[in-house]
Amino acid sequence: MAEEAVSREQMEYDVVVVGAGPSGLAAAIRLKQLAAAAEREIGVCVVEKGSEVGAHILSGAVFEPRALDELIPDWRERGAPLSTPAREDRFLFLTQSRAFRLPTPPQMRNHGNYIISLGNLCRWLAQQAEELGVEIYPGFAAAEPLFDETGRVRGVATGAMGIGKDGKATERYQAGVELLGRQTLLAEGCRGSLTKILVERFGLRHGVDPQTYAIGVKELWEVSPSRHQPGLVVHTIGWPLDSATYGGSFLYHLEDRQVACGFVIGLDYENPYLSPFEEFQRFKTHPAIRPFFEDGRRISYGARALNEGGFQSIPQLDFPGGALIGCAAGFVNVPKIKGNHTAMKSGMVAAETVFRRLTGDDGASVRSALEQSWVWRELRAVRNIRPSFRWGLWAGLAYSAFDTYIMRGAAPWTFHNHADHTRLVPASQAQRIEYPRPDGKISFDRLSSVFISNTNHEEDQPAHLRLRDPAKAIAVNYRLYDSPEQRYCPAGVYEIVQADGSEQPYLQINAQNCVHCKTCDIKDPKQNIDWVVPEGGGGPNYPNM
Ligand SMILES: Cc1cc2nc3c(=O)[nH]c(=O)nc-3n(C[C@H](O)[C@H](O)[C@H](O)COP(=O)(O)OP(=O)(O)OC[C@H]3O[C@@H](n4cnc5c(N)ncnc54)[C@H](O)[C@@H]3O)c2cc1C
Ligand code: SF4
Repeated sequence: MAEEAVSREQMEYDVVVVGAGPSGLAAAIRLKQLAAAAEREIGVCVVEKGSEVGAHILSGAVFEPRALDELIPDWRERGAPLSTPAREDRFLFLTQSRAFRLPTPPQMRNHGNYIISLGNLCRWLAQQAEELGVEIYPGFAAAEPLFDETGRVRGVATGAMGIGKDGKATERYQAGVELLGRQTLLAEGCRGSLTKILVERFGLRHGVDPQTYAIGVKELWEVSPSRHQPGLVVHTIGWPLDSATYGGSFLYHLEDRQVACGFVIGLDYENPYLSPFEEFQRFKTHPAIRPFFEDGRRISYGARALNEGGFQSIPQLDFPGGALIGCAAGFVNVPKIKGNHTAMKSGMVAAETVFRRLTGDDGASVRSALEQSWVWRELRAVRNIRPSFRWGLWAGLAYSAFDTYIMRGAAPWTFHNHADHTRLVPASQAQRIEYPRPDGKISFDRLSSVFISNTNHEEDQPAHLRLRDPAKAIAVNYRLYDSPEQRYCPAGVYEIVQADGSEQPYLQINAQNCVHCKTCDIKDPKQNIDWVVPEGGGGPNYPNM
């Protein structure tokens, strides 16, 4: 390894950004805008583990354009891919056979917003960034943070390519590259792997609530013209989830007969037999939902975790040598089901702060700048809504109405969050859930789903899903929880199998199927699974998720 470190090429920048999502790209663009306005040269690069910008991006998405309006006011003239204004909101409560329309909560009203593919918006943002001189390197995963002798972050190293399963260099071997920055911005999105290291090293979560998460499973459909209503936004709560489990669905009608459909489930669920993937498949068969998909064609599939901790879970953002931005820190407004506008704004505010640091103001802090922004006010006002659902669906809805209409977001109390991995009950105390078999028309199995996520990983490489203590896979996960990773992983990566002639089951990890959703890193009850970056370019290849 020491030899490898010596032979790594080094490239120097003023700012290194990890992740070409909305937060990273907004930060890179803002930095270049500020430099141009001050007639200064600054070098900015963005590394992205997907094979291209957008390949790993998965969102809903109904997009609130507030941050984009501030970043690129003439985005319409520049052809930003925001072509479907949200026209109608429907909020439904489902029972097994019926759908009841509820009043749309104010946070979920989407007048003025757009239904978009976030992947396509990121591709467009990347073009804008490149026109301003940002260097973007897709296909390179940032694998380790680099520190100087004082312990300050001085950039990141991309992972070496061509290391075999056995840890030895193959004929494909190419050393990683050291991207050195005076400042490093981590924009890895929810549960970033380098973010996890720096949060731990610098104690960035000290004094705040644990971050909490949900998993979102999504499909993109091309529906028959008679079923397509561009601009329609449908959200459901209720069936197939029980009232103790937080979650619901979204159906967004985009342009070109496309409908984005997904199901989001809070990762604080308790029953180890719950399968988010199968809940989603079952949801599509509801009599009020199924007609949307009849005569249609499923185009794409994917999954991604999202933050739900909100205001009380925002960590310290600044560390020596850089800052966390976007969902790496966690700025999703859960009642709105939106994090893109806040992710972009956090990137822009961080860029402004970092620019000040580069020009000599060492005291500038991203956190205090963000505290003065609309992101802070927006998240603070809704901070109690998501935690109130721990009392169940009906109590949560009642509290949310009280908090919104009576307290107007100004309640003097703050509810706290609990880490998701602590929530599972032992399998012996949980009820098994029997899911219906997929019909292959509206509902599908995992493997045919992963197939259309275009996921690909080089097979001969070290596992990117690491068990800290391999024995716990059977001793704890299997014996106590009946191996919940078999069900919460939306890509069928984890399988309990029995070798021929052996009584002993073991955990088989089909790492090549991984869609990089990060759920296992979050939900494993003993935090025994570490997701680390595989070779750059591996993972899903989402077209326009
Ligand atoms: C199912 C679902 C539905 C959603 N719906 C909506 C919605 O309707 N409206 C809305 O506003 N928000 C929605 N969100 C939330 C929104 O998508 C996120 O808040 C937003 O994507 C966060 O942006 P980001 O830039 O922080 O991270 P991301 O969008 O996650 O981007 C991070 C990027 O960094 C890359 N990366 C990560 N680690 C590394 C590494 N080590 N090296 C190199 N590259 C790396 C990733 O590949 C990725 O491209 C939804 C999220 C989900 C999952
Ligand atoms: S292995 Fe983990 S990160 Fe990969 S798809 Fe499964 S749950 Fe998600």
